[in-house]
Amino acid sequence: MDGARRAEACPAPRRPRSSLVKDLSRYSRQMLFQPFGREGQERLLAARAVLVGCGALGSVLANTLVRAGLGHLRIIDRDLVEMHNLHRQMLFDEADVRSDLPKAEAARRKLRRINREVTVEPIVDDVNHRNIDDLVEGAALILDATDNFETRYLINDLAVKTNRPWIYGACVGSTGMALPILPHETPCLRCVFEEAPPAELNPTCEMAGILGPVVARVAAHQAMEAMKILAGRREVVDRRLLTFDAWTGRTSHIAMQKAFDAGNCPCCKGGQYEFLEGKFAGRTVTLCGRNAVQVFPGRAMLVDFAVLADRLRPIARAEPRFNPLLLKVAIDDYELTVFPDGRALVRGTSKPEEARAAYARYIGA
Ligand SMILES: [Zn+2]
Repeated sequence: MDGARRAEACPAPRRPRSSLVKDLSRYSRQMLFQPFGREGQERLLAARAVLVGCGALGSVLANTLVRAGLGHLRIIDRDLVEMHNLHRQMLFDEADVRSDLPKAEAARRKLRRINREVTVEPIVDDVNHRNIDDLVEGAALILDATDNFETRYLINDLAVKTNRPWIYGACVGSTGMALPILPHETPCLRCVFEEAPPAELNPTCEMAGILGPVVARVAAHQAMEAMKILAGRREVVDRRLLTFDAWTGRTSHIAMQKAFDAGNCPCCKGGQYEFLEGKFAGRTVTLCGRNAVQVFPGRAMLVDFAVLADRLRPIARAEPRFNPLLLKVAIDDYELTVFPDGRALVRGTSKPEEARAAYARYIGA
């Protein structure tokens, strides 16, 4: 891609002409920090970003960036607010649970009371390779607040292809990770993790739990790097992979630049956008009249049933059962039958999105 096309694909944050008439006093303490200053504030006010996922990380990111004066935030999320979200999803409250509101809409209502100058655009949808192009259109930055690798690799493909910065963030238990990605300049997600770890070694919050302060720490790092990027200060972006365990206090900042320079990543070096092309897209088939959906994994896998049973045992309604051919487990309102190649029957719903969400939660992405 040549320089002109890149510039077109990724509009740099502009300094708006109307800045002279705008009252910026609510941001005065932020602008007093000189490296950010009035110019950073004006650029942030003119910027558009997309938040993919509005659960735990998304709550903190949206809250922080809307208060900071981001111009336009599109929030994409497919779930409703539930009571067990509230200990860490700081935008939501008990009234949102009672009103069965989708998270994206509940977030919009709350954020409007916080800063009505910011345009918040809620979208209740599942991000996939067919719609991601439209969903992130016009955004200068993509914020990852998803809970699965399939969607992150999809975001990565689109971001690299269209030369848009994005910020990876993840947390489970007491551990967190974050990495800002400036395509073609810093390592992309596939430079760091060429493939997702096997599902049975990739714990989810439903399995391993999650502590609220861990979420806040990952999201705070993402929000800080987002403000630098949107304020046009890419030179101060922290290009290292942050990993920490908040329980033990271990923190590392891993420099990835050498690996990037020497690497041959299929995505950012090879120009292969396999996730965007839908090559690994998880498929679902609704089984008519059976209140069940068949979910196919997004990639080739071989499930270790003993490891998966150990992981699911603490949250299962009864002891998981398995033989060499399949594993059966009942969790929440679902009964899952998992096969060695990762295919699963999810009983208890006829909705593909719900089955895919259950699959991502309990089996992994
Ligand atoms: Zn790469």
